[in-house]
Amino acid sequence: MDLTAVQAVRIARSRADLTLGPGERYLAGGTWMFSDDQPGVTGLVDLSGLRWDELDVTTAGDLRIGAMTTIGGLERWATTAPYPAAPLFTQSAESLLASFKVRAAATVGGNIVRSYAASSMVALAATLDATATIWHADGTDSVVPVASLPTGNGTTSLAPTDVLRDVVVPGAALGALTASRRIALAQHGRSGALLTGRRDLEGACTFVITAATLIPTVLRYPSLPEAKRLEADVRGATGYYTDPLGSADWRRQVSAVLLAEVREELAQ
Ligand SMILES: Cc1cc2nc3c(=O)[nH]c(=O)nc-3n(C[C@H](O)[C@H](O)[C@H](O)COP(=O)(O)OP(=O)(O)OC[C@H]3O[C@@H](n4cnc5c(N)ncnc54)[C@H](O)[C@@H]3O)c2cc1C
Repeated sequence: MDLTAVQAVRIARSRADLTLGPGERYLAGGTWMFSDDQPGVTGLVDLSGLRWDELDVTTAGDLRIGAMTTIGGLERWATTAPYPAAPLFTQSAESLLASFKVRAAATVGGNIVRSYAASSMVALAATLDATATIWHADGTDSVVPVASLPTGNGTTSLAPTDVLRDVVVPGAALGALTASRRIALAQHGRSGALLTGRRDLEGACTFVITAATLIPTVLRYPSLPEAKRLEADVRGATGYYTDPLGSADWRRQVSAVLLAEVREELAQ
């Protein structure tokens, strides 16, 4: 879509360039930005000049994903990555209602900051306990769990001037077993529920509900929970919602069924 009110596009090359003027917004892959009306947006600050497409393993063994890494790039990385959790990266990329062409442009940062309930990059990060490094306009930085960023379906705790710099996945989570299930009302529809789980080497388990609840629901257990306990926790979770992609009751029901499957897979 042509954003006819946009008068200028600046390419950011340093932190100083990230100061937003009136009507300016950050531009990453542009797949959402150019897919909808953007009332009041008169300028774009293109983040591509910052070259934030790193996929580095730190000396501590953590994976650092630059915010401008494309989802397609992350998928390619996962095909040869020597980590037990690597399949979750591929499954999460494929959970988007987006063709390979969109995934080649859409960034990990853009998907997280857009923060739809069906954001599979939020699901991936929440399941692996990833943190986000946020650059604030006053020159300070903060590090927060990605799971804590969404405040609703498409809203976040970020200020408009905050920039997501990178996402860090702890090395311990990369060594975990993972599993994922997804369901949509239509065969090629956006996720109505996305259920993910992780079982650490020492046995602790994390189960995450996204797309079905407005913000990520993260359930943690010191060891594999009994099936009944997990089911009760899933059914008791809050935030199931109704929209054209599914009713709250349906979302609750399919979350219980599919997270039980995730548990079964992790139990093996
Ligand atoms: C065909 C199609 C299918 C889609 N399917 C899904 C889906 O299944 N699930 C889902 O959740 N979403 C879906 N989306 C929306 C999706 O969230 C985005 O298109 C994509 O992930 C956004 O990434 P982007 O890099 O293109 O960001 P952009 O479109 O460039 O930006 C998205 C938003 O994030 C901000 N932003 C981007 N990067 C940063 C950063 N580093 N720091 C601060 N702000 C930033 C921008 O200012 C903008 O507000 C779909 C979109 C399309 C076009």
